[in-house]
Amino acid sequence: MQDPRVLLDAESIKKSFKDNEVLKGVTLKVHAGEVIALIGPSGAGKSTFLRCLNYLERPTGGALSLDGQAAFVDPLKPSKTELLKLRRRVGMVFQTFNLFPHLSVVKNIVLAQKLNGLRNAKEAEDYALKLLGQVGLADKAHAKPSECSGGQQQRIAIARALSLDPELMLFDEPTSALDPEVGNDVLKVMRDLADRGMTMIVVTHEMKFAERVADRVLLLDQGGILEEGPPAQVFYNPTHERTRTFLQAVL
Ligand code: ADP
Ligand code: MG
Repeated sequence: MQDPRVLLDAESIKKSFKDNEVLKGVTLKVHAGEVIALIGPSGAGKSTFLRCLNYLERPTGGALSLDGQAAFVDPLKPSKTELLKLRRRVGMVFQTFNLFPHLSVVKNIVLAQKLNGLRNAKEAEDYALKLLGQVGLADKAHAKPSECSGGQQQRIAIARALSLDPELMLFDEPTSALDPEVGNDVLKVMRDLADRGMTMIVVTHEMKFAERVADRVLLLDQGGILEEGPPAQVFYNPTHERTRTFLQAVL
């Protein structure tokens, strides 16, 4: 049974870059434990939308609530405290991994916790090792990122994001820079996370993954949600001709 609690409420999120209106008011309620696949053509605004959800990109309109509480007193003037809090609650994994090359794998994960004032050194290291086990990389703890494959580095980046105990995880095409084989290991870790009840929004072109793992698929097109529903409906019985055309191009 799905927990009906609305974890994230994004209300009419808008974003313009100069006079280019990229998001035209996107509204999305994400329930606790829900997995959402966000699909759509290149340039549709998928990354921009995800980045707005943790204010890596500042929306030009709209509002965010977490667990029924506004994330910002004034969404146009976020305070530093509000930003830190939001970013800790909403974790993000990017296409590129951005690990610190001079630090060992475990130290990368310890550092993230330290920078966020979480746990003492010993507890942070124990937690990092536990998370590395969870993503299947306990044996890489003391390696340098450069000694790990792209897929392993992405799993490390996932462990790093998890070390902040996020309530919601955002993934922006986490496998698109990887070979399919190692990409599958990353998708498996994500599927495990979903099975453990993590709430997730995943921007992806992996339609099989979306079909298997997502509770809901959203198609973003030209800065708005064109189509939304359970995977089977969006993939096999879409409402819009535009959705069919997009799916034919990617399937
Ligand atoms: P998607 O992830 O769906 O491919 P993006 O969100 O990356 O799309 O981009 C949507 C649009 O926003 C594109 O037209 C892109 O050029 C524009 N855009 C994204 N980021 C910026 C930025 N930092 N400055 C200016 N324009 C941007
Ligand atoms: Mg993108």
